[in-house]
Amino acid sequence: MGPAQQSWIRFYGFYTPGVHSLKVVGGIGDDVVDRLKRLDRVVERPNSYGAGLELHITPDYLKCAWEQLVLEADVTVFLNCWVQDVQLESDCIVSVIVATKRGLARVAGRTFVDASGDADLCFWSGSPHVTAGEHEEAQSLTTTFRMCNVDATARKTVDLEYLHSAMTKATEAGYALPRREGSDHATTVDGMFATNMNPHPVLRATCQWSDQRYRP
Ligand SMILES: Cc1cc2nc3c(=O)[nH]c(=O)nc-3n(C[C@H](O)[C@H](O)[C@H](O)COP(=O)(O)OP(=O)(O)OC[C@H]3O[C@@H](n4cnc5c(N)ncnc54)[C@H](O)[C@@H]3O)c2cc1C
Repeated sequence: MGPAQQSWIRFYGFYTPGVHSLKVVGGIGDDVVDRLKRLDRVVERPNSYGAGLELHITPDYLKCAWEQLVLEADVTVFLNCWVQDVQLESDCIVSVIVATKRGLARVAGRTFVDASGDADLCFWSGSPHVTAGEHEEAQSLTTTFRMCNVDATARKTVDLEYLHSAMTKATEAGYALPRREGSDHATTVDGMFATNMNPHPVLRATCQWSDQRYRP
C-alpha cells in the first residue's frame, strides 16, 4: 500500500498553479475521478498555498475506484508481492524475482514499468538512478492524521496565521514540534479534517544490509 491509499486527501496536478488555474491533465486521471464521483463526493477547491485547484477526495473510496478499474481492465493483481531482484539479458529485464507469502517467484514479461515510487526496479537492474539524500536533503516523511467530529463553523474562525502562532507557542512551552507551520483541510466527509504537519528534519534509519543477494 502506498501513500496514495493511506493519506491522500486531494489530487494535485490536474490544474496549473496560480489564481487562474487551468486544467492540463486528463486521461486515466479523469477515469479515476469519474469513478470516484460515482462512489463518493469529489470537491474542487483552491490550494491554500497557491498551487492551483485541487480535487478533494476520500482515500478509502480511492482504493475501491482503483480496484474496480483494474479488475474491469482484466489486470491480474498480485498483492503483498515485493520485487527483490531482476534477471537481465543483454541489458534488458526479462523477469523479476518477487517475494510473496508463498515464497520467491519469478515473473517474466516483455515490458516492465517501475511504479515503485522508489525506483526499485531501476535499482535492482543497475539502471541510472539517484539515491535519496545523494544530491540534496531527502524530503522527510509527512506526519498526517484525520480528525473527526470537528465543529466546522468554529474551525472557520481560526486562520492559518493563528494556527502557526499556536504551534510556535506550543514549541516555546516545551512541545518538541520539529516544524511550526502546518495546515489542516476540510475533507469530503462532514466534520472530518485532515492535517498536514511535515516534520522538518529527515528521519534517518540505520540498517545493515546483508551482502547475500538471492541469486536464482
Ligand atoms: C503522507 C503523504 C501525503 C501525500 N498527500 C498527497 C495529496 O494529498 N495529494 C497528492 O496529489 N499527493 C500527495 N502526496 C504525494 C503522492 O502520494 C506521491 O506523489 C504519489 O503517491 C507517487 O505515486 P507513485 O505511483 O509514483 O508511487 P507510490 O504511490 O509510492 O506507489 C508505489 C507503490 O509501489 C509499491 N512498491 C514499492 N516498492 C516495491 C517493490 N520493490 N515491489 C513491489 N511493490 C513495490 C508500494 O507499496 C506502493 O504501493 C503525498 C505523499 C505522502 C508521503
